[in-house]
Order: sequence, then C-alpha cells, then structure tokens
Amino acid sequence: MTDADSAHHTADSAHHTADSASMKAESAKAAKKRRRREPPPDPEPLPGLVDAHTHLAACGGRDADSVRAILDHAERVGVGQVVTVADDMIDARWALDAAHCDDRAFAAVALHPTHAGELDDAARAELEQMAADPRVVAIGETGLDYYWPGKSESAAAPEVQKDAFAWHIDLAKRIGKPLMIHNREADHDLLDILAAEGSPDAVVMHCFSGDLTVARECIDRGYFLSFAGTVTFANAAELREAAHLVPDGQILVETDAPFLTPHPYRGQPNQSYCLPYSARLLADVRRTDEHAMAQTLGDNARRVYRLSLQ
Ligand SMILES: [Zn+2]
Ligand SMILES: [Zn+2]
Repeated sequence: MTDADSAHHTADSAHHTADSASMKAESAKAAKKRRRREPPPDPEPLPGLVDAHTHLAACGGRDADSVRAILDHAERVGVGQVVTVADDMIDARWALDAAHCDDRAFAAVALHPTHAGELDDAARAELEQMAADPRVVAIGETGLDYYWPGKSESAAAPEVQKDAFAWHIDLAKRIGKPLMIHNREADHDLLDILAAEGSPDAVVMHCFSGDLTVARECIDRGYFLSFAGTVTFANAAELREAAHLVPDGQILVETDAPFLTPHPYRGQPNQSYCLPYSARLLADVRRTDEHAMAQTLGDNARRVYRLSLQ
C-alpha cells in the first residue's frame, strides 16, 4: 500500500492527552497499539444495507475465499451487498475478479486521482473494456485530491488529475454508469470541472467531506452524498449538519474500508461489517427509526448502482 492510499480522506487529527506519569504512558501506549490491530466488535444487525464504497483487496480480500469471508461477515450484520472500488489498474482487476466470484460484490473501476499519471493509452483501453462489464456498476473513484501532491512524490499533480478526471467523466457518460467522486480539499475546482464537462446522470460524492455550502450545491445538482465513518467522528459537527440536510433520495452510506473506521473504533481496522455503526449515526442525526434509515440507504444504493439488474 502506498502512503497515498493510507488515510486518503481525512488526516487523523485526534489529539491525545499527554500522560502525566511516564511509566503509565508506556503501558498506555502499548495498550493503544494493541487496540489499533484489534477489529471492532460486530454491531447489532441492521438489515437492508449496502456498503456503497469499500476496497475489498485492501481489506485482505484478494481471492474467492477471503472475499467470501469478508462478505459473509458483512451479511451477518445486515450488509447484503458491497461496491468494491479500485485505486489503480492492479486494484481494478482485483475488484472485477471479486465482483465475478461473489454475487454480493459489485465493482467500480477508475484510476484514483493520485494515480492519474498512470492513465496512458493502455490503461484507457483496459478501463473502457472493464467499464462495459455488467458487474461494473460505477466509474470511480475519480476526482481531485489536492492533499497528497507535494506530500507524496508518487501523487499526480493537480493539472494531471484534472485531465484524468475529465476523461473519467466522459467515460461515465458514454457508458451510462454513475460517476463516483473522490474529493479531497478540491471543492471549487471539482464542482467547476463537473459543471464545465457536464455531469453524468448519476454522481456519487463518495466520503462526502464538504462544508454546508458544498453540500447544498451538490444537493441542488441532484448528486448523491455518501457518508463514511468520518460522519461519526467527534470533530465532525458540520458534516452531521450536512447529513441532516440531504433529501431522503440522495443519501448513501459507505465504509471506505479499510480506512475511516467509525467512532469509537477510529484507527482500528475497518471492514464492511462495521457499516451499521455509521448507518445508526445517520438515523440519529436525521431523527429516523434505524430500520427505516437502513432501508432508505440500501434502496438508494440499489437504485443508483442498478444492483438488481446485474
Ligand atoms: Zn476516496
Ligand atoms: Zn475509497
């Protein structure tokens, strides 16, 4: 995994209280390290959910058995289907394999904005071919990431990202599948490019992270706002306000696993089975019954990705 893949949405900005006794600090540190490797406990089942964005390969699902184990676990807590998303070409092949070997997995393919420099003729041809596969339900994740350029040498420069983004927008329109957007610290350029190129019929703002102005603009344009574990974080009051604003027909929930594990398990390994934690938070924020919320979230994912048709 490259550094551009780790915590690619939200830098972990949790502040830790300094321990007064240094001896105590060492054992607390060891305990914390242990906890970070420990998977969160299973949530109470919440039926009807779809994980709208995960990375099965990065969660350890790289063959039929490991993919099945992850999806069996998710299904036990009510997450019946997942969309597994590619970052690069190797990942895209893995995503497609997973979608072909287990009918609960669907794929999204694209080059992640940080990998935009890899979009050569061969990659274009292969992505076009993959995009036409019935198990591929979206073009993504594509978009703009202004956080990593300058921090990671391997991350594509903004100008390179813009060209690749425009190409992916065009592909989504030609192939008639939803566009799944990654946006990190690039709100303005991202919305401008979408407006200039013309949005595809369905646009999903994955791991929505914008402020209320951006949320309103996306809602007005008819985009889907997909909320990840970040919406449960202690410092995410504005994100929860955005989650409150979204009309019932435009809200999705995702894990973005293995990243962004929901509170109070932040920093521990994330998988699709952790989705009910975020779904329950959304029900709470929107003052809705959790079962009704899960049905709405699942129905929206099944509708936008046309899962029943595959
Ligand atoms: Zn992303
Ligand atoms: Zn992702």
